[in-house]
Amino acid sequence: MTNSPPNTTNSLYHERIKNLPGAAILQQKTVVLVGLGSVGSDLGTKLVRVGIRVIGCDPDVLVEENLIRWGLPAVIDSSVGQSKAKVWQDILLHTVPRARCEGHELDIVRKPTPFDRLLRETRPDLLVAATDTRDSRRVVNAMAARHNVPALFVALSDGAASVRIEVVENARRGPCHLCALHAEGSISGENEKASNVPYVSKTVPEPVAVPALPVDIALGTAIATRIAMAMLAGENWRAYMKNGEQKGNVLVVSMRPDHWIFDGAYDRFVYEVEKFPDCPTCGTRDEVLHE
Ligand SMILES: [Zn+2]
Repeated sequence: MTNSPPNTTNSLYHERIKNLPGAAILQQKTVVLVGLGSVGSDLGTKLVRVGIRVIGCDPDVLVEENLIRWGLPAVIDSSVGQSKAKVWQDILLHTVPRARCEGHELDIVRKPTPFDRLLRETRPDLLVAATDTRDSRRVVNAMAARHNVPALFVALSDGAASVRIEVVENARRGPCHLCALHAEGSISGENEKASNVPYVSKTVPEPVAVPALPVDIALGTAIATRIAMAMLAGENWRAYMKNGEQKGNVLVVSMRPDHWIFDGAYDRFVYEVEKFPDCPTCGTRDEVLHE
């Protein structure tokens, strides 16, 4: 694959996407996306294709087995063994006219300082955590508070049997992602406390890479991508996170029948995270703000 993208100055592509709902706003937006695995690579691609600027971060190398469920069709000979961030960026630059994207081979947990600088320089409108470790989600939450940026947390569980999507509008003011973890009883050392969220188990295990059907991953990712676009376009994202009388900022959708609390495939539940007063991210900061 060559390094310079094809010349696309007079793009009919952009004429076409100009007519999409919200396109004028979306094309002015920047997203920093953490995690270019099966969820992040796909979500980021969908945003880039409608003209959003996306800066993707992932420290990992693309391995052959990733190709089962990665969001882009990569070239086996030239892409396997390369940085996911670079492959993701290069494919988009060569397949999306005037794509605005960057891939950074960056571990945000081990190297928070360059990540902090990246956020300061790029001034994103939205931070997306599409990662599979709790540490990286904590860093995203902390940076969302530090840079005052809304955040979206996307996680699949149990072989993509369900997807959990959380909107944090203002991690500085709260409730933030750590408040949600506390509510769901999954902060280390807090497991003895009963969850105050209906349905949620007391201990939610750290997700690990388990076999998952690519189509289930794609479904969950598509829902999360739609909510990201609603947030960026200034739409009422809460309208996408309702289930009858249930409203809130956390949406869990089942991809299969008879899974966990769900009877049917595509059943869902929604809840509103309450601020945890002792939250290390938004709790103490709130006191500081009111001094
Ligand atoms: Zn909090």
